[in-house]
Amino acid sequence: MIHIGIDGNGTLYKTDGTFDKKEIHPLLSAFRSLKGKAKLYHLTGRDIEYIETRLRQPYPEVIGALHYHLLENGGVFYDGKDFRVLSIRDGKIIETDCDSQLSHQLNRIFSLFEARGIPREHVKVRHTSIEYAVPDDNTRVKELKSISEWLEEDIFPRQFYATMGAVAIYVNQIGIDKWMALGKVSKGETTCAIGDSMNDYDSISQATYGFLPGNAALGLMDKLTAAGFSIRSLAEFNPNERKVIYKSESKCTAAVAEILGCIRKHLLPNETDFKHT
Ligand SMILES: [Mg+2]
Repeated sequence: MIHIGIDGNGTLYKTDGTFDKKEIHPLLSAFRSLKGKAKLYHLTGRDIEYIETRLRQPYPEVIGALHYHLLENGGVFYDGKDFRVLSIRDGKIIETDCDSQLSHQLNRIFSLFEARGIPREHVKVRHTSIEYAVPDDNTRVKELKSISEWLEEDIFPRQFYATMGAVAIYVNQIGIDKWMALGKVSKGETTCAIGDSMNDYDSISQATYGFLPGNAALGLMDKLTAAGFSIRSLAEFNPNERKVIYKSESKCTAAVAEILGCIRKHLLPNETDFKHT
């Protein structure tokens, strides 16, 4: 079984949370071609409310085809009905239905946003993380730096970190990230991660195979390159190469369909393919 983590905004769907209608059919065909051979996870910084209020009703087939939603950058596991909260206590991951100590800490961090004059309506305290909606690219980079600094200086040094998605900045506990979540569900089996932004760095760099859509953020590609990865075209995919990240020429949903096709072709050859080669 292959475990495939697919980021949300800027990857599976557009940054505004919608799909291009014409791209849904090829995506669903790609999902179907992997049935029984791969598990697909929605691996996103977003929360349960976003799935239920923004995505499920307009796109029931897409949302229904995903095996699990690994939300809040890995802090919440949601199967569409029940959810589990993952948090760090004494350096270990604990799984619970609610972590009141963590909620208390997040509320204290929220008060730091308020004290710095950040409008309340832009900041949301969730089960395991904070989401700060920052609409503009340049502001996001600047804000991320300052939030990282004050998280380090202020009340919980080395316990929380800030990271950047395609439309928001997230504050999570150190130890909770997308790779932790994908690693946990895959239990040592082969993993693939697809994502476009900085909060995808850990999953893309640590999965067995990492993939980028054509619209991936420059900051993410720079960080991968600085860590010694080469970024090559999806057409050059070679399952035996290591330290290579493959990038589709297409964007968002179309890129995901193409990448899933590549995974299907190279990592999951069916019996017929074996017989004829
Ligand atoms: Mg994204």
